[in-house]
Amino acid sequence: MFYSASTIAAIIAPHTRLTQPDAPVRYLLTDSRHLLQAADTLFFALDGPRRSGSAYVTALYEQGVRNFVVRDAPDKDAFAGANFFVVSDPLQALQQLAQHHREQFFLPVIGITGSNGKTIVKEWLYQLLQEEEKICRNPRSYNSQVGVPLSVWQLAEEHSLGIFEAGISQPGEMRRLHDIIQPTIGVFTNLGDAHSAGFASDAAKAKEKAQLFEGVAAIITQEKYQHLFTDATLFTWGRREDNEVVVKEIQAGHNSSKLVLSFGAKIYTVTIPFADTVAQENALHCCAVLLYLGKDLNDFSDRFAQLHAVDMRLQFFDGINGCTIINDSYSADITSFSLALAFMAQQQTGQARTVILSDFMESGREASDLYRNVAGALAKYKVQKVIGIGAQISDLLPGALAAGTSASFFPSTDEFLQHFRTSSFHNETILVKGARRFQFERIAHHFEQKVHQTVLQINLNAMVHNIRQYQALLQPGTRMMAMVKAFSYGSGGAEIASVLQQNNVDYLGVAYVDEGVDLRREGISLPIMVINADASSFDAIVDHNLQPVIYSPELLERFEAYISGQGLSSWPVHLEVETGMNRLGFSVNSIAAIGQRIVEKGLLKIETVFSHLAASEDPAQDAFTSQQVQTFGQAIALLQQHITYPFIRHIANSAAIIRHPALHYDMVRLGIGLYGVETVSGSVELQPVATLRSTIAQLKQLQPGETVSYNRRGAIDHPSLIATVRIGYADGYSRRFSNGAGKMWVRGRLVPVVGTVCMDMTMIDVTTVPGVSEGDEVIIFGQELPVQQLAQWGGTIPYEIMTGISQRVKRVYYQE
Ligand SMILES: *Cc1c(COP(=O)(O)O)cnc(C)c1O
Repeated sequence: MFYSASTIAAIIAPHTRLTQPDAPVRYLLTDSRHLLQAADTLFFALDGPRRSGSAYVTALYEQGVRNFVVRDAPDKDAFAGANFFVVSDPLQALQQLAQHHREQFFLPVIGITGSNGKTIVKEWLYQLLQEEEKICRNPRSYNSQVGVPLSVWQLAEEHSLGIFEAGISQPGEMRRLHDIIQPTIGVFTNLGDAHSAGFASDAAKAKEKAQLFEGVAAIITQEKYQHLFTDATLFTWGRREDNEVVVKEIQAGHNSSKLVLSFGAKIYTVTIPFADTVAQENALHCCAVLLYLGKDLNDFSDRFAQLHAVDMRLQFFDGINGCTIINDSYSADITSFSLALAFMAQQQTGQARTVILSDFMESGREASDLYRNVAGALAKYKVQKVIGIGAQISDLLPGALAAGTSASFFPSTDEFLQHFRTSSFHNETILVKGARRFQFERIAHHFEQKVHQTVLQINLNAMVHNIRQYQALLQPGTRMMAMVKAFSYGSGGAEIASVLQQNNVDYLGVAYVDEGVDLRREGISLPIMVINADASSFDAIVDHNLQPVIYSPELLERFEAYISGQGLSSWPVHLEVETGMNRLGFSVNSIAAIGQRIVEKGLLKIETVFSHLAASEDPAQDAFTSQQVQTFGQAIALLQQHITYPFIRHIANSAAIIRHPALHYDMVRLGIGLYGVETVSGSVELQPVATLRSTIAQLKQLQPGETVSYNRRGAIDHPSLIATVRIGYADGYSRRFSNGAGKMWVRGRLVPVVGTVCMDMTMIDVTTVPGVSEGDEVIIFGQELPVQQLAQWGGTIPYEIMTGISQRVKRVYYQE
């Protein structure tokens, strides 16, 4: 189904005069990086926190996009043949268009909201019902003000059921989502404390969420939320006998749970392959929905037994033979495919690109048309090698592929794996993307390097979230330098830097020249400031276009001599002023002469002038901080007498960004906050970026009198179950955590370290952990156990823990 430009104008901008009224529109685009099919795309220039959406119009026009929804009409002559829909609010226009689209269909639509579990309940309902219904649903967790309209836009004639989740972070947002989704059945999962910032109370939050359910035939929820929906028709589940669905019994086994329910006169037993209470709750929601829809749960027992965890993160990791693997063995449809390709392009690994792809599970589109789009996307992202798996793709993709693409096809995953040779893959970035039933996780598994199983998992979405939180605190025009020294505080090099580069960060800061060189080699193009350069690295600075900090007269003299010797001039540098940290920098007494000298010689160009605060996080030191700021102000004033061109001034680190808005000057330097570690409490809600996880290698039952680890430090005084975890001080897990000082998180419980931490292993006491088994995951720090807590146990600071994780620990990155 497509709309003509003139139909769209009638819906969102009635008085528009169009250059091409008949132009067809099939795809809506809000993120210019995800452009796939320029010809039929309508771009909505949405404003981000710091950049106007219209900034992307020119680039998209050059790529062939001809339809734009914008706030201000551009110079039409520069965009021949393009349609501009001028509206006061492009986001609202997107929502209006989606609402109009929704109104073209009469079908049952399940609207899901609540604080947690929305995506899982939606995906599980999809897993349960996909055989009998043609379902339209949000891709991944596209449940926001932008994600919901894009999701609803996918509704097409052949769908028989819609399942859409809605998530909000501000009051007022649910009303809009309601109008777009127009659910006929509501599901309320639960009320936690997520996203509570904008809301006065639980009651206010519930009331806002309940707006999704206006006009639904029934709200399906658990008994404890009954009171939140007093005016509605409810369909509840719970222990009490007056619920529609009565929970008789829940038995948690080792890796599964048995749920016994009654509905009307019938008793059902449902088994799910998860033992935790969260999964039980989500499954009970699904049971209630099925019963409400008049299904017989006995017909679904196989499918309940096969429910799989919803892990919709794009995982990427270093694989065999220098390959980088992006694993998305979850779905194959054009929307998620283009997201995955964009993600692959964003990695800038500099490697050739390979895609392993299954049949597309997208109905309602002419199949040949679909594979033409697939081929177009492969060409656009310069994919050199394609491996297609499945009957349909083998039939339809070969004819559509661009000349020169190397391609091979297999009827099934098994067939492919029989022919799989690790030696056929070298130094390439491989996207593994398949519909669920092709079980591509088996393929991804073959690419894994078999290494020591401790990983540092880096959540790039959390990082983007954190950047946005800080950006929202800045005045428009205030720049941001992201500190990525020490391998991005232990989190990774180029992977992190490319995310920063994509999210409006202006500068990167590193400690040493080598770190900057590594980033350049990985294709990072942002300006990079090097805090601690020395004469031996001048060649590398110039070769890799890095910008040193000049902090002493000797360094200045030597760098000027070098630049002059190279026949260069105006090399960009940063001046550091000493104001009280007493680390590096020019004293305020010497700064005027330094500035004058630099200007007179013209060999260097002062990009920025900065200083570093010694105690910005500490209210007890605020007087000292003010003194530092005053000294910095004096230095700036003196420099401005000599330097005729403008330069950027900066002093605020993460804590100062929050505690001292007056110190943002022209730029801030964000460090630890980027990685989701709060050093002061304040107006940002950060998400932890890094999770250090390991696994249990062995379990042992020990008796009183036995001991654990070197020097017999871990004495056992009661019958204990001891687990050996694959992490030790060589990985960065300090010996300071020995003998109960540190704890780890296993299956929902905190358990102490027993005995001394060894080089590669650590023992913990898991006696109290139900159902623990060998191979179980252990969290050293992350969401469940903040790195701040670990630092406190070890008598240190999060910075030291994070940067101390050794390079042998594999970094695994993911993005939703
Ligand atoms: C590391 C560093 C920062 C960042 O500090 P955080 O406390 O991590 O925000 C800022 N400026 C300089 C000069 C640094 O060395």
